[in-house]
Amino acid sequence: MDEKIYVTKSFLPDKSKYFSYLENIFDNNLPLTNNANLVTQLEHTLINFLHVPNLLYVTNGTIAIQLAINALGLENCEIITTPFTYVATINSILWEKCTPVFVDIEPNTFTIDADKIEEKITPKTKAIIAVHVFGFACDIEKIQAIAEKYNLKVIYDGAHAFASKYNEKSLLSFGDITTCSFHATKLFHTVEGGAIITNSKELYDKCRLLRQFGHVNDTYYCVGINAKQSEFHAAMGLCNIEYLPEIITKRRDITKLYKAELQNIVEIPKEPEKLRHNHGYFPVLFKNETELLHIFKVLAKENIFPRRYFYPSLNTLPFLAYQSCPISENIASRIACLPLYPQLAHEDVYRICALIKKELAS
Ligand SMILES: *Cc1c(COP(=O)(O)O)cnc(C)c1O
Repeated sequence: MDEKIYVTKSFLPDKSKYFSYLENIFDNNLPLTNNANLVTQLEHTLINFLHVPNLLYVTNGTIAIQLAINALGLENCEIITTPFTYVATINSILWEKCTPVFVDIEPNTFTIDADKIEEKITPKTKAIIAVHVFGFACDIEKIQAIAEKYNLKVIYDGAHAFASKYNEKSLLSFGDITTCSFHATKLFHTVEGGAIITNSKELYDKCRLLRQFGHVNDTYYCVGINAKQSEFHAAMGLCNIEYLPEIITKRRDITKLYKAELQNIVEIPKEPEKLRHNHGYFPVLFKNETELLHIFKVLAKENIFPRRYFYPSLNTLPFLAYQSCPISENIASRIACLPLYPQLAHEDVYRICALIKKELAS
């Protein structure tokens, strides 16, 4: 009962299964890295799981975005993006020497408001980086139409979108490139890790080259980086992917409990049509920041720690010139993700809801 409950808890597979992969490496002195056996095996497994044509496994979700920007030749340009995301999205744009131009978000899905993109396009705009926040889909059709009209590249940050489906296709299969994160806090994880997904064989080959310093054996093609992942990480992925259906079912059951208990108490976003959600997060909106902070205080006394996700709205970052995004700022001030992970006991979910209801039910 006294154990602390955080917004998430990393999933761990059966330890004998994981150790058997390591044992095989130790006993046979197999390679530890350089896109060896297990990395290749994980890539094939993920391609089959997601039904996508090309997937590269990389060291993390941040480097995946950076490789995508680089592979699409986007240096020194303006990139239209969202202020409601994890800072890694914006850092990647800045790290690649591009300028983020923020477009406000759509208040129901928290994703970029496609109707407000066109007014932010300038002659320097070369791309849109949109984020499938909490596994909810961006307005893919509208973004695609704008990209075609203005000849822009589209990158989706799909760090939250693993196993979400849109029109029965993986939500990771859209845009020029979609990136994903397999960080320990994500729905599917490999401790650290990420992926680049693209329908273009040419972009896949480019990213593959960038991942390994830009050379193949003694032929040097371009300036690359080291984004190669280790066999130990790939082994974790091969173990964890087997549990994914079970993980999603357990998360769905917990989400159902939360929804039943908290309807009319807090604002709960509706799952958009055409979307089969992965239940990666359970975000709720409080009336205002004061109410949110009050509930956080009440829950903290019981060792329960939800997370302000995402806060602050990134158009207010102190090292960037301020750009106005009132909807994102408003949502960021009063949204939080409640604890959600497969090991979370239902009685704890009831307890969390009871604490919130006691304060907010009128
Ligand atoms: C986690 C996350 C990232 C970064 O992924 P890492 O693997 O931690 O580098 C990028 N974007 C979003 C939206 C994220 O949630």
